[in-house]
Amino acid sequence: MMPWYQSFYEPAFAKTFLATQTHLFISQDGEGSEHLIENLLRNTLCEQLNTHGQACGHCKSCEYSFVEHPKLRVIEKNPELKTAVVTIEQIRELSSFIELASSSQEDYKLIYIKDADVLSTSAANALLKNLEEPPTNTFFILNSKNLHKILPTIRSRSSIHFLPSPTREQSLRYLEQEGHQQAIQFIDLSGNKPFFAIQLANDHEVLNSIVTLLMKGKSFDMMHVNDTLLASGLGFFIEIMQKWIFDLSSYTEFKQLHYFTNIKDKIEQISKTLSYKETLNFYKKLNEYARLADTPINKSMALDAMMIDYKRIFN
Ligand SMILES: [Zn+2]
Repeated sequence: MMPWYQSFYEPAFAKTFLATQTHLFISQDGEGSEHLIENLLRNTLCEQLNTHGQACGHCKSCEYSFVEHPKLRVIEKNPELKTAVVTIEQIRELSSFIELASSSQEDYKLIYIKDADVLSTSAANALLKNLEEPPTNTFFILNSKNLHKILPTIRSRSSIHFLPSPTREQSLRYLEQEGHQQAIQFIDLSGNKPFFAIQLANDHEVLNSIVTLLMKGKSFDMMHVNDTLLASGLGFFIEIMQKWIFDLSSYTEFKQLHYFTNIKDKIEQISKTLSYKETLNFYKKLNEYARLADTPINKSMALDAMMIDYKRIFN
């Protein structure tokens, strides 16, 4: 259980869950919202909740794997598309599932749209049609990182839940309790996002090669810039780079570090040689790259371009 989501685990919340046909959760990446929502849906589907109001884990309903439960459809962005979105086809495919919903209370249907912030425009409009006249006993659960990426007409039909972020203490205790000791050292770098800290611990080899290269300042060799740096994805690389540049400029101006708190000496050393103005320009450029990370750009070329720009921030 994630204590920062405490109120959503209360039996009172579970009881009112099926009183609203459309739920919209707004959450930050890396804080565990997808685990919370899976948990809520499992509890809803369970036929004999335990005394804590949690799914029993062994009834007929609990035995289904989450994505295969006959009363549930999970819609995720299609990772095979060059630009990952939820497509209109995916929403259209729901109609046969929805039509099966009968008026019997037992036969409710749950539709979980995991990536509601990347619905294509046509998919959002198709979904809206369903929400405008929701079929009896059909429930929509949407998760999004950004309220403003949701059509206002969808927002106005939803019960909106802003999920709270964990405190640093809650994150650390959670990682400890769940046996993610390795992840604890990455909590600052994760920006206090416990599930991102777990990912950083799993990807620590790629992380190390990225940071080792960045620590060289302008003296790294372009020969060492290759796709092994992209082994955890271009988005991952850009995120590490953004945090690195953020800390370089923050250290230069305020002598403060937010992410790379455990290598202060290195940052201090390298920040002596950089041009503050160029660093800020590069930071802005990185935001543009971040927006492109999910689109069909040539990732190796983007990496080269960023590293060439990185050299330029040093005097
Ligand atoms: Zn059960």
